[in-house]
Amino acid sequence: MRIDLHTHSDASDGTDTPAELVAKAVSSGLDVVAITDHDTTAGWAEAQAALDDAPTSFRLVRGMEMSCEGRGEDGDPVPVHLLAYLFDPADSTFAAERIRQREERVSRLRAMAINIAADYPIDPEEVLARVGTSAGRPHLAAALVEAGVVDSVSEAFEELLSRKSKYFVNKQDAPIDEAVAMIAAAGGVSVIAHARARMRGRLLAIDHIEELAERGLGGLEVDHPDHPEDERVLLNGLARRLGLIVTGSSDYHGDHKEQALGACTTDLDAFDALVARASGAAVLHGRSDARGER
Ligand code: AMP
Ligand code: FE
Ligand code: FE
Ligand code: ZN
Repeated sequence: MRIDLHTHSDASDGTDTPAELVAKAVSSGLDVVAITDHDTTAGWAEAQAALDDAPTSFRLVRGMEMSCEGRGEDGDPVPVHLLAYLFDPADSTFAAERIRQREERVSRLRAMAINIAADYPIDPEEVLARVGTSAGRPHLAAALVEAGVVDSVSEAFEELLSRKSKYFVNKQDAPIDEAVAMIAAAGGVSVIAHARARMRGRLLAIDHIEELAERGLGGLEVDHPDHPEDERVLLNGLARRLGLIVTGSSDYHGDHKEQALGACTTDLDAFDALVARASGAAVLHGRSDARGER
C-alpha cells in the first residue's frame, strides 16, 4: 500500500486541478491520497468526482492544511501548519474560521503584491486573478517568474517573499491549541505538518507539542521531504512517547515544488489508526471497474 497524506491542488497553491491530482495519484501507483489544500475544502468536490475514473481499490482522504501559530523553541510565536483530516466540512465554527483565514490570505497577498509592485514590474490585480480559492505566496512567486524578476519560485522565496523581506506582510493565523480543538470538535484528526523542517524557519517548541498531545492532537508528520534523518528519528521517538500517529507524505504542489507524489508515504497501520479516530467524513473509494489500467 502506498499512502500519501499531504498534497495540494490549485484550490490553494498547487498547480494541478483536483481532478488531475487524483488522476496522477492513480497513475503514479498510489493507493491512497489525501487532498490537503491550505485553509480550504474547495477542491474536495472535484477530487471526489474524479473518483469515477479511479479503480475501486483507490481511496481519497479529504483533508486540509490549516495555518496556525504555536510557541517557538525561543518562546516567541511561530507559524505552524496543521493537517486536518476527515472532519465535517459543515461544522460551522470551523467553516467560519476557514473563511476568516482565506480573507486574511487575500488581503495579505494584495499588500505584499502592492509592496513589490513599487519596485518591480508586476500587477497586483493580475496576481490575485491567479488565485483559485486560497491565496498564497506561490501565486506571487509565479507572477515574479513570469515577469522575469526571478528565475524560479524557490528563488522568489529566497529573498523577495521571505519573512525577512521588506515586502513581507504577516497574516493572522489560528492559535494552534484552538485549531486542534476545532478540528476534534468537527470529528477530524489533526496532524502537525513538517514540524522539524528547519529550512523553513524557526521550530515549534517540543513542550508545546507535548501540551497539544494532551489536548487532542492526533499525530505528527514524520517522513517529509524537508525533514533530515535526525529530525525524523526525534519525531518518531516523540510520537511513540506521546501516543501520536506517525504519518509520511510528499507535500506535493505540482510544478511549484520539486517533490513528486509519493516522495514520502504513510504506513498502513498508521493510516488505519487515523481513519478509526475520525468521525466527521468518510474515506471515499474509486468507482471505476476497469482493470489493469495501473
Ligand atoms: P503562504 O501560505 O502564503 O504563507 O506561503 C507559504 C507556502 O509557500 C508554503 O505552503 C509552500 O507551499 C510555499 N513555499 C514556501 N517556501 C517555498 C520555497 N522555497 N519554494 C517553493 N514554495 C515554497
Ligand atoms: Fe503550500
Ligand atoms: Fe505546509
Ligand atoms: Zn503543504
